[in-house]
Amino acid sequence: MLLAAVVETSRRVSETSRRLEKVDLLARLLLELRPEEIEIVVRFLAGSIRQGRIGIGYATLRDAQGSAAETPSLEIAEVDRTFQSIVETSGSGSQRQRSQLLHQMLSRATQAEQQFLVRLLMGELRQGALEAVMLEALAKASGAAVERVRRAVMLAGDIAPVARALLEQGEAALAQYDVQLFRPVQPMLAGTADDVGEALADLGLGEAALEFKLDGARVQVHRSGDDVVVYSRSLNDVTAAVPEVVEAVRALPGKDLILDGEVLSLQPNGRPQPFQVTMRRFGRKLDVHRMRSELPMTPFWFDLLYLNGGNLLDEPQSRRFATLSEIAGASLIPHTTTSNAERAGEFLEQSLNRGHEGIMAKAIDARYAAGARGQSWLKVKRARTLDLIILAAEWGHGRRHGWLSNLHLGVPDVEKGGFAMLGKTFKGLTDEMLAWQTQELLKIEISRDSYTVYVEPKLVVEIAFNEIQVSPRYPSGLALRFARVKRYRTDKTAAQADTFQTVQRLAGA
Ligand code: AMP
Repeated sequence: MLLAAVVETSRRVSETSRRLEKVDLLARLLLELRPEEIEIVVRFLAGSIRQGRIGIGYATLRDAQGSAAETPSLEIAEVDRTFQSIVETSGSGSQRQRSQLLHQMLSRATQAEQQFLVRLLMGELRQGALEAVMLEALAKASGAAVERVRRAVMLAGDIAPVARALLEQGEAALAQYDVQLFRPVQPMLAGTADDVGEALADLGLGEAALEFKLDGARVQVHRSGDDVVVYSRSLNDVTAAVPEVVEAVRALPGKDLILDGEVLSLQPNGRPQPFQVTMRRFGRKLDVHRMRSELPMTPFWFDLLYLNGGNLLDEPQSRRFATLSEIAGASLIPHTTTSNAERAGEFLEQSLNRGHEGIMAKAIDARYAAGARGQSWLKVKRARTLDLIILAAEWGHGRRHGWLSNLHLGVPDVEKGGFAMLGKTFKGLTDEMLAWQTQELLKIEISRDSYTVYVEPKLVVEIAFNEIQVSPRYPSGLALRFARVKRYRTDKTAAQADTFQTVQRLAGA
């Protein structure tokens, strides 16, 4: 298939606001693809590519469009092969060769194709919202039930291979995507609520399950008999770093299990160590035994995804938690269930008084939505925080001379594309953070002027603030009041940052 067909569909999908029409446009395109084109096209339409990144700098990409072809001739497979060649080019002079390959391809593209490709490579077409529409399109094109497609995608952690299997082999192909021991699933993520009242109202069921929100490391533990593997939030095997967690899981009743929880280091008085201190346990090349006695880790389990051959993902939260309660003993997360905002407020106070971050409010009837930042889990903290993306930084003065200090903070706008600026801050930064951010930001520099270094929108930072104000200063129309840096979220990618739509919702706009 020609790239032009994909570009045209992408344009028409973004131009219509009618969901069914989007589904229909995508389904028709999917049905015309050859098997080897399916994964490539599904990724392009979601704004990503098989190769991830192709190693061509932002500035080169921005200026890459040149004279265009009159008629379309680029094939999908050719474009993918070019990306692959670019990625595989290495050694001296590779930067030039890469950009030559890019220019050769672009010179054969029409203007619309050039724009599409450049925006694709700059990450500007990335659209989380499209995934849901794509799921429906896949169901429609293949005749499979949407729910089954959603489950498979959730468990595969990626829509593209599921799309290919489904369109090539039909619904029966989905059986291969089921929960299996030692194949970790994407963790379920949480949305944000302003306060307990809003959380209860948003969950909308009367009763909600409330749990302490602990500030440690998310882990998913798979156990079969005595075999235990601990996976990190990004699904890396971190078993060797936390032997005490392995021992604790071995001691639980039951045989085969998949647990979801948070591990953290507690001080002798029972209060949590700061997040950065807990995370030292996951550093490289550590003496695990020494670290274990200095910073022992305690696990707290809050979910159970699998028990003795049975998959629990589709069970309601209340049932999963009840089953978990029977086996987790003292390692069960502190929790309560209530429909009363006042009681929920007291529970939040309890958590904060014990040094924790806040609480999680969970819908008791919700299934486990792996990988999804849904509205079934809502975090409530006292100080409001958002995970923002650094767009630029200004050089510091006085004591901070020589360091990049004042950060320009943005959020992805998933509706319009691009980023919305929400303010600047140099507050809350320790010397260690200043040194770190200067080094990291310079690595992703795009350009600079006398005061400011502009960077690729990649680094995620957690910002605490008091209020979202309506402000004429930025095109977004909103700005954060008293923004201060809480910490860097190196565990998050830009795609996992908060969005402008969340900020608008918090602002009541
Ligand atoms: P955030 O990373 O700020 O989006 O918040 C979600 C994270 O909170 C999860 O990934 C967990 O690591 C952590 N967390 C702490 N306590 C809980 C809990 N009771 N339920 C779910 N997640 C929790």
